[in-house]
Amino acid sequence: MYQRFANLNLEALYGIPAMCPVTNCQAQMSPLEMLAHLMMRHSPQDSMIEIAEDVPKQYEVDIDKLTPGRNHSIGVIAYEGAPKPGLSCAVTSDLQIVHHLPIILMLYVSPPILNTEQAYILYLVSAVPSSLVSANVTLLDGFHAHEKRGWRCLRNSLDSPLMDSQNRLYCNTDYLLYTATDIRELCLSGEQRRIFVKIVLHGEPDPFQVDA
Ligand SMILES: [Zn+2]
Repeated sequence: MYQRFANLNLEALYGIPAMCPVTNCQAQMSPLEMLAHLMMRHSPQDSMIEIAEDVPKQYEVDIDKLTPGRNHSIGVIAYEGAPKPGLSCAVTSDLQIVHHLPIILMLYVSPPILNTEQAYILYLVSAVPSSLVSANVTLLDGFHAHEKRGWRCLRNSLDSPLMDSQNRLYCNTDYLLYTATDIRELCLSGEQRRIFVKIVLHGEPDPFQVDA
């Protein structure tokens, strides 16, 4: 399975631009630049959605609007961890970065190559590679009837092997691979080729944590 996608250079995904997800902003830049752009150029309430620990969030994706060879920002999350009375507050113009970990949920679609199946790669980008925060990411069909487990979890070759068996994604470290066949199976019903990306975040964000 993985051999078929051995030609994918996962770390190179960080150099591929994505379009800014904010309406009417045409800016295009790499995922980490996008994170800085979203925090400095846009109001948090225009660009981010606050999500608490263990609360599922779904993002609709129109498959036909994805551009092969490009990154796509599927969702921008202000992750708050477990709700903390008195500290947590909704995402407002003065987002408390102290209490939230901004994360971009990215989707890369590989370009079509003869005799090679296209890959759809989901990954999480944050300013700090927090080992305290992880996520379960799965795909759902347009009717929420079928859920495909994201078991094809690949890890950045520079990082240590996966320790847990739950196939959780860690920011800036893991990549979740789906094939064009997986996507086709999810799009079998319905005229519009649309799927949902479901994310459930776990752990306590600490924006000041720096991994040793
Ligand atoms: Zn923008």
